[in-house]
Amino acid sequence: MPYLCPECGAEYRPGFTHCTDCDVVLVAELPKPEPDIDRADLSHVWTGKDQDRCIELCKDFRAKGIPFKVEQSRHQLLTCASDTLN
Ligand SMILES: [Zn+2]
Repeated sequence: MPYLCPECGAEYRPGFTHCTDCDVVLVAELPKPEPDIDRADLSHVWTGKDQDRCIELCKDFRAKGIPFKVEQSRHQLLTCASDTLN
């Protein structure tokens, strides 16, 4: 069961307790379950190591109500629902 950041929705492996981006405690389930985002429907938006940039983009998507997902690996991969981009 991955742990989720209630702020940015990033998934962390067990062992992580805080989101490194938002500095908030991770939760097993988001308080308000968001509609399941199908990976296939997501468009790649951004990949990089710049966390500030990633947070900026995440906040932007949240403000606009666009479903998005951040994956943490060596880089951070940000994707969002393609039909909401324009
Ligand atoms: Zn976060």
